[in-house]
Amino acid sequence: MNLSTVRVVLFSLITTVLIGSCAVNPVTGKKDFLVVGEDWELNVGKQHYGPLRQSQGGDYTADPGVEEYVRKVGQKLAAHSDRKLPYEFNVINDSVPNAWALPGGKISINRGLLTQLKDEAELSAVLAHEIVHSAAKHGARGQSRGILLQGAVMAATIAGSRKGYGQAAQATSSIAAQLTNQKYGRNAELESDLYGMRYMSRAGYDPRGAVDLQKTFVRLSEGRQSDFISGLFASHPPSIERVRKNVETAAALPAGGERGKARYDNAMGRLKKTAPAYELFADAQKALKENKIQRAVDLTKKAIRIESREGHFQSFLGDISIQTNNYKAAKSYFNKAINLNPNFYYYRVRRGEVNQKNGDIRAARADYEASMKLLPSAEAQYGLGIIERDSGNLPAAKKYLASAAQSKSAVGKKATDALLKLDLGDNPQNYLTVNRGLSSKGTFAFQLINNTSRPLTGIKLGVTMGDGSQSISNVSGTLGAGESKIIDTGRKMSKAQADSISVKVVDVSVRQ
Ligand SMILES: [Zn+2]
Repeated sequence: MNLSTVRVVLFSLITTVLIGSCAVNPVTGKKDFLVVGEDWELNVGKQHYGPLRQSQGGDYTADPGVEEYVRKVGQKLAAHSDRKLPYEFNVINDSVPNAWALPGGKISINRGLLTQLKDEAELSAVLAHEIVHSAAKHGARGQSRGILLQGAVMAATIAGSRKGYGQAAQATSSIAAQLTNQKYGRNAELESDLYGMRYMSRAGYDPRGAVDLQKTFVRLSEGRQSDFISGLFASHPPSIERVRKNVETAAALPAGGERGKARYDNAMGRLKKTAPAYELFADAQKALKENKIQRAVDLTKKAIRIESREGHFQSFLGDISIQTNNYKAAKSYFNKAINLNPNFYYYRVRRGEVNQKNGDIRAARADYEASMKLLPSAEAQYGLGIIERDSGNLPAAKKYLASAAQSKSAVGKKATDALLKLDLGDNPQNYLTVNRGLSSKGTFAFQLINNTSRPLTGIKLGVTMGDGSQSISNVSGTLGAGESKIIDTGRKMSKAQADSISVKVVDVSVRQ
């Protein structure tokens, strides 16, 4: 974050603080300072919930019953919350054990956490805990509030298939990371445990499910599984203190309540049975990273034999097919992935790329546009920019390319280049600075500065003299990326004369 952004954020913070000061917390009943208004919470939740889920792998759809079940448990708990909010619950298709809440009641739990839980009471402990984070405005108080206030979802960038990983979790935006990795702090965690257990109890669950959940977390964090540490535990640090407090809280609540083990096992049947497929998939991703392409394909096909309804597996084979220049196979894999889950942006972006490569521009445009509705990505913006450019719609092309150029990735660089070539003729002054004045010898001189990352050539300057007469001056040679050059005309004149001359760039091009 640069300095000017920091200033903007601070200013927004102060404004918000003034509006929201001295409210009573709806969960704890205590006086709350530094709390934002409900409109802000609802907006942040609404605006970020969909794109965030997309950027972390999309929703888990191989067994729709899983999400349905999680929603039912979530809404049962939400009905007992101290605060009415438009609560929503979704399951993210990611193997990292994690759960998070956005302001405004928008809650997600990862597939990889569901497979670690033992019964419905433990699930209710996770969801109730997240409900409290949202209801008690913990997110609004978090360190990331400044980021949230900026309000915009930045375009995600897809990491190259050889680099980073997670077929789907390839895309990250800094906002996504901030929103879901924020640390609430010890007090907020204890508060969420306490009130969460009360909601569990009111909803008919055995609150000791929260104790068992904490014990599991402590045990797993001691095992130092990097997935756990980077996921749930980064934002919700487990501790012996939390286990102890939960034991006290459970003892103070009415005895009894449901564990719901049979129901949980029934709902998670397919997920637990297909868990080995996701392990094979992780191995396949690792194999590709090590450039063992055939092994990656074999492992993924093995995974598909266990779970045939997982779009990520098909899409991964599509990625490999692109990498090996087999566009026909790639298209068929992305078709399968989209049939399995039409609502994941990544499959659409990738099929768009394949369609564009194959010259099917209409289909490419449709795929890119569909992906942008789910999650704007630099890849889709670049693809659309090129399509618009090639069909002669230059203003639209420039708009897309300028958005894509903001990404610091390889596609961002490609977009910067394409934009430069398109825009240079129309707005040369944005890329080439011309200063003019007198040299130490009293002669008239120009200074040219190339503000781009490409060499510029064919520079023509329009010179207007004080008496209104005009001339064109050709600058020979090439001005390297970022380079500046002084051209002395050798003509002696007074400062007043020099000041009366204006110079502007009339033509310039990128050296190919
Ligand atoms: Zn928490």
